Amino acid sequence: METYRYQAVTILIDKSEEQLINWIRANQFSRYILLTDKNCYKKVWPSIKKQFSFLRPIEIITIAPGEKSKNLTTAEKIWTKLSRLKADRQTLFINLGGGVVCDLGAFVASVYKRGIAYINIPTTLLAMTDAAIGSKTALDLNDEKNILGTFYHPKQVWVNSNLLKTLPFDEWMNGMAEVFKHGMCDSQTHLDIVIQELEHLNSELIIRQSVAFKCEVVNEDLYDLGKRKVLNLGHTTGHAIESFLLSKGQTTKHGICVFYGLVTALLLSVKYYDFPSEKSTALIRHLKRYCPILPLRSNDIKKILKLMHQDKKNNEGEIRMVLLKDIGIPVLDVAVKEKEIVEAIRATIEIISV
Ligand code: ADP
Ligand code: ZN
Repeated sequence: METYRYQAVTILIDKSEEQLINWIRANQFSRYILLTDKNCYKKVWPSIKKQFSFLRPIEIITIAPGEKSKNLTTAEKIWTKLSRLKADRQTLFINLGGGVVCDLGAFVASVYKRGIAYINIPTTLLAMTDAAIGSKTALDLNDEKNILGTFYHPKQVWVNSNLLKTLPFDEWMNGMAEVFKHGMCDSQTHLDIVIQELEHLNSELIIRQSVAFKCEVVNEDLYDLGKRKVLNLGHTTGHAIESFLLSKGQTTKHGICVFYGLVTALLLSVKYYDFPSEKSTALIRHLKRYCPILPLRSNDIKKILKLMHQDKKNNEGEIRMVLLKDIGIPVLDVAVKEKEIVEAIRATIEIISV
């Protein structure tokens, strides 16, 4: 068992539920609400259900899996249920699922009766290393991802890699991009661990490294005003690609778009900061191994660029990105020229597709 902390939040990396159960018992909640999606209810909940049978009274709310549930309509349904149950402020809200359940459940908990206690039990690699940690809550509005949200601390986060046993392989890949991102921003040692351990789909050490790094960053800058911006590495391009494909009716996994964004960021880092080019080439080779090819053509780049201009991190019409001087040495808010971006995205599409 290992414990990590940022501000008031405790993250338990633990294959046993004992610590979490002790904490719940010690807090005397009036009732429990478990939010999960249909897949996790079927595949994950049975593996821990027995140990949590002491949670009484409990109401289990299941939502349809996937991003389409991360909206105000679903949130309203959950709030209505809570209100019908007369859930009071001593209620404990439990999120069991991937990023969608954790983001949505945290938002619901942060607003109901001005905030009730919640905990995260992430079940995807992405949620264990990223979404469940950092106290950001989020909902999508129309086609805009994560545009609604609050900062609201979970009381505990229980990261148990045994819960990944049933995770489909494409969901693994979806989480890998964020794991690479953490290594690239943190240190060469961290990145080497990611590369080695992923060979064997060995998640233990990778999760620990990612959780430790994310806690360190969030602890310093919860509200995303400074250091936390490093976590946007690969995301300016990644988000634009994601929105572009979404606008064409093609839903894509966030992580896959971030892989593209990481490659673009590396190419620009070589250009802008003399990031060692042989290191960039070797790393891109690793990233490529885990990244499926997206249906992108060079004709699409103009539209992607337009979407990059809408990024909330920009300033005075310039596109601002996170780049790297070297592994572990990120540079924030770099104003990157359009021409260079177009060239880097074109090269990324080509590199990944061969
Ligand atoms: P993310 O964490 O990438 O935001 P989601 O919350 O959308 O992802 O979850 C991705 C998909 O994986 C969903 O269909 C979800 O039901 C399913 N899922 C999540 N965790 C598990 C698990 N441990 N085993 C099987 N399926 C899972
Ligand atoms: Zn991300």
